[in-house]
Amino acid sequence: MKVLNFINGEWKESSSKQFAPVINPATGDAIGEVTVSIEADVGAAVKAAKAAQKKWALEPAPKRAEVLYKVGYLLKERKEQLARMLTMEMGKVIEEARGEVQEGIDMAFYMAGEGRRLFGDTTPSELKDKFAMSVRAPVGVVGIITPWNFPIAIATWKSFPAIVAGNAVVWKPALETPFMAQELAKIFEEAGLPKGVFNVVNGDGPTTGNALVEHPDVRVISFTGSNEVGRKIAEKCGRSLKKVSLEMGGKNAVIVMDDADLSLAVEGILWSAFGTSGQRCTACSRIIAHESIKKELENRLLEAMRTLTIGNGLDENVKVGPVINEKALQKIDRYVQIGKEEGAKLLTGGYILQEGEYNKGYYYAPTLFTDVMPNMRIAREEIFGPVASIIPVKSLEEAIEVNNSVDYGLSSSIFTRDVNKVFTAMRDLDTGIVYVNAGTTGAEIHLPFGGTKGTGNGHRDSGVAALDVFTEWKSIYIDF
Ligand code: NAP
Repeated sequence: MKVLNFINGEWKESSSKQFAPVINPATGDAIGEVTVSIEADVGAAVKAAKAAQKKWALEPAPKRAEVLYKVGYLLKERKEQLARMLTMEMGKVIEEARGEVQEGIDMAFYMAGEGRRLFGDTTPSELKDKFAMSVRAPVGVVGIITPWNFPIAIATWKSFPAIVAGNAVVWKPALETPFMAQELAKIFEEAGLPKGVFNVVNGDGPTTGNALVEHPDVRVISFTGSNEVGRKIAEKCGRSLKKVSLEMGGKNAVIVMDDADLSLAVEGILWSAFGTSGQRCTACSRIIAHESIKKELENRLLEAMRTLTIGNGLDENVKVGPVINEKALQKIDRYVQIGKEEGAKLLTGGYILQEGEYNKGYYYAPTLFTDVMPNMRIAREEIFGPVASIIPVKSLEEAIEVNNSVDYGLSSSIFTRDVNKVFTAMRDLDTGIVYVNAGTTGAEIHLPFGGTKGTGNGHRDSGVAALDVFTEWKSIYIDF
């Protein structure tokens, strides 16, 4: 498959005439190629978006929402086809890919509903014969930059609220995963979205992404990706006073207390730590375990990990797929070596799978460390692979302190049967998302998604809160 840019309703090759290969991480095979854009292509897309946005904003919001309903039905119709394509370009197992497309479907219907609820406020004026109100106004052209690990869901979390609120979008997907971007653009086209309201410009971050960040007509950048890149983008947006929403990495923990249902905890940890091969921003990479149940938890986790079938995610029996590429494989392995050098005890895994069926593709053995200290690098830095570390603690207070001691604040979870511990954790865990008796992953699109500290700058994806990124409040006074 040859993926082109989608600009002003037309499929176009980039002006660089360069293409990059699209690799299936399960096999290492090239399964397509994608046009690699330069600044001029971003300029063309922004120009189209700017012109289209003016008309789009004049459509009544419930009419704008009608397009999203159609998008939702088209996504639903193509769910299986999209999921299979997603697994091939990104590697996550097919059941998770179906779940990801479902998130897009849910988001379409949820945000379509918002088209009838773009509420403002009326406020009693302190002055006589004056009427005061505030309304949500679209911002204009929105630049969206996304990572490869959720190639369709994250784009729907951002583009659907942007579009229903009356903005136009220019999206730069990750270079590794252009198929989902192409399919979403096709769906918008078929749903009858006017030309220029949704545009896709493929290319690499430093060139194409940066051109979007620096373009003076782009009024908002909504970014999801690493902390390192997010900081660079934030600095540039700060200089030009551009609104920016940042969703970045995590170092998420599951706390297992002495009174926890251990079967439930093992189930939650298994899914959170090794699902998507640990390549989720919400992946559990720290297991903060009460010392009295630590040994039993280790044994149960090791037993459960033996059931994890590793392989090509298109096989329905496979539970852990490949990681995205060779660079990721090497980064994960480096962290495992660091963990060993730091004195952590390796319980299982810790190596690249390369024999037999694994000799093509990028597979890492699910890995578990124990007796990890909170100050070790493997307990503080985002590894983004199937590696989890057990950190022993003596009390709930210590567990919360360890959870909060990292630079990130995305997701956390606690397993306990004690209602007082539940409420204490809900109050004191410094993360944007807190789960009780469940793992750290699994976003619900009607709730605001995002984190604190190094994870984000306070803006949220999903839920009504997403509209705050893509609208400005306009206060209006009417004298009569
Ligand atoms: P990344 O390297 O930061 O890339 C994210 C996006 O930014 C890609 O499209 C990338 O382009 C682009 N980019 C890179 N350099 C850029 C620059 N100088 N200017 C503008 N854009 C630039 O992250 P990733 O490796 O794709 O994704 C993994 C990270 O995303 C992890 O840290 C994970 O935790 C985080 N994440 C966070 C959330 C959340 O909601 N909090 C959700 C999912 C993932 P190319 O890669 O195509 O060159």
